[in-house]
Amino acid sequence: MGALRSLRSVVAAAAATVVLVGLAATPASAATWISVGPVPGLSHRQPAAPAAPRGPVTWRVPIAMYHIVTPLAPDTTNPDLFVRSSEFEAQLKLAAARGIRTITAHDLGASIAANIAIPAKTMVLSFDDGRVESITYAWPIMQKYGSSLVFTGTNWIARDMNKDGRADTGYVGTFYVIVGRHDGNSISFDQEATLARAGNEIANHTNSHIDVRIDHGAALTAQVITAGHTIVTELAKRGVTTTVTTFAYPYGYTSTEAVNLLKAGGYTLAFTTVEGIAHHGQNQLLLPRVRVSRGQTAAKFLVSLGY
Ligand SMILES: [Zn+2]
Repeated sequence: MGALRSLRSVVAAAAATVVLVGLAATPASAATWISVGPVPGLSHRQPAAPAAPRGPVTWRVPIAMYHIVTPLAPDTTNPDLFVRSSEFEAQLKLAAARGIRTITAHDLGASIAANIAIPAKTMVLSFDDGRVESITYAWPIMQKYGSSLVFTGTNWIARDMNKDGRADTGYVGTFYVIVGRHDGNSISFDQEATLARAGNEIANHTNSHIDVRIDHGAALTAQVITAGHTIVTELAKRGVTTTVTTFAYPYGYTSTEAVNLLKAGGYTLAFTTVEGIAHHGQNQLLLPRVRVSRGQTAAKFLVSLGY
């Protein structure tokens, strides 16, 4: 018994101290390594198991983030939020030439939820703050270039396939509006209805552009959830049936309470201002975007989108 106990101790010690054992009979060029046990204090060096996929759909779609597209001079306070119309047009023209199509964030979220693959070479054009320049300057340019896809619930089709069969009907966007703001710089509910009828998405950027870290409880619910309901109600009054399922965090600030509200409210996607290309495996209520800055060339725009 003493000898057996001793042998077991040796084996246990060996297993605890040797991580990788090369198979001696295998040529070095084809060496296979097997793990025979952990090394105390070094377990973090072992390769992590790949994350379990959340579903069969893998996806990677850049969400371009704009604020104000205008031919006019920018505000001196935040000039970087102002992209020149000429730059915007060059970006869309080159994207169209490369065969890149737009989808809305709503349709992206719906397709992911339905486990239907997202078509290649797609992008989302997002516009924060519901600025009137979106319909005055950006939308006319979007109608001139490219094409868009629509998710039907079971598959993706060209946006106008049921009309005249042409696919070159221009780009669409996702407009994150400040629902309770109706000053001279903001698009009206009538204008939101016009954009929605043309295939664009009107989505939620809170009621008054708050920092979601500050408000809590009923106040946060009003900003994050009720604001979305208001969009649905106001567009319904204008004959547009819509659902609001995507959100953009004002200033990019986030909170666990806001994420939980969005999740409970049925939101599929929410966007920060963290730089990056959104893809599967990320928290869908904390997705990154690609900021488009003033002075960005069309070529750099496409590179930033990963195309
Ligand atoms: Zn904003």
